Amino acid sequence: MHQDTRVIHIGEGQVPEADPLTTPIYETTTFRFASAAAVEDYYEGRASSFLYSRYRNPTVLAVEEKLAALDDAETARVFSSGMGAVSSTVMAHVGAGDEVVCAAAIYGGTLHFLQDVLARFGVSVRFAPLEELAEPDQVPGPATKLLWFESPINPTLRCVDIARVASACRRRGVISVVDSTFASPYNQQPLALGADLVMHSATKFLGGHSDVTAGVVAGRRDLVEPIDLTRRLLGTVLDPLPAAQLGRSVKTLGVRMARHNENARRVAEALEADPRVSRVYYPGLESHPDHRIAAAQMRGFGGMVSFDLGGDYQRACRFFDRVRLFQRATSLGGVESLCSLPVATSQRGYTAAQLERAGVTPGMVRLSIGLEDPADLMADLSQALA
Ligand SMILES: *Cc1c(COP(=O)(O)O)cnc(C)c1O
Repeated sequence: MHQDTRVIHIGEGQVPEADPLTTPIYETTTFRFASAAAVEDYYEGRASSFLYSRYRNPTVLAVEEKLAALDDAETARVFSSGMGAVSSTVMAHVGAGDEVVCAAAIYGGTLHFLQDVLARFGVSVRFAPLEELAEPDQVPGPATKLLWFESPINPTLRCVDIARVASACRRRGVISVVDSTFASPYNQQPLALGADLVMHSATKFLGGHSDVTAGVVAGRRDLVEPIDLTRRLLGTVLDPLPAAQLGRSVKTLGVRMARHNENARRVAEALEADPRVSRVYYPGLESHPDHRIAAAQMRGFGGMVSFDLGGDYQRACRFFDRVRLFQRATSLGGVESLCSLPVATSQRGYTAAQLERAGVTPGMVRLSIGLEDPADLMADLSQALA
């Protein structure tokens, strides 16, 4: 055959006589069949081979097995982003006439997806304040199909009693979903606490290096399989290359999270002892309103710390502009420490009443504590507070 033909076909798709230690990156969009009979076997479920990477890919499957293991779940799926996981999960399990109940203090993307997108398709959406979730038996109504909440919650790090909400949902036949992004599977196991599904933005601690955008949902097979079908049709699957990066990252989740927890605890304690800071929000501090809930359901208290500079936005801005080691950027969960101002980003555009309900003040600063030496982090915070 000619050069143009040979260069395309030679060297492709062969499985070499090699036994790799790690899963190779299968950068292929499609998979070959040996015969028409093999195609039939695939569609009739007689062979668990691969067809097309939007459906299933060996590299993606390998990281899904790791993610299922991390949450002690029957099965897990990865998505092109945390929002891909949110939208695919909700759309798989609710339809016109159903109601979704969502915690009022929630990630902005989740809020807008439910309120601005889902509500246009005949699904009613109700936002439940934290006080209602503290008495969860009254929360689900007759049409409630699914209840979505987070713990800990951005940026106050308020926590919800997961076991209590999950059991109230179970008694009413409502699917409970926990967005556990801020905790990561190292610090919190929502499925073991009785939740039906757990979701993470893997862009944060799971990816851990601020270089992969991804999401994950884990839980029982009967609840995850409809989400898989929705993922195929919405096209929210993760590509093999970022899946491999994510698989590499999660191997070090334990050592990273132990250090995030320890660094954040030290920063929170130092800030609490600093007279220039009016209030510190960290679930590991006894002064945090949900310390007891967090201590009962978390192994460690996570890498996020928020604090208040007397409710004064100008002071918060001056602090923000002065940090040197902390990077002025949104997002969280990476090796590098980040600093953001909630009223300028995640709670942007909130009215005074909405801010009060969310427990956010204009003087609030949010820190994502990375893996740098804690003495360097504390020195930077101290000089920026000066
Ligand atoms: C970042 C985040 C999301 C959305 O994840 P993306 O990967 O940005 O799509 C959802 N929930 C929480 C709590 C988050 O922090």
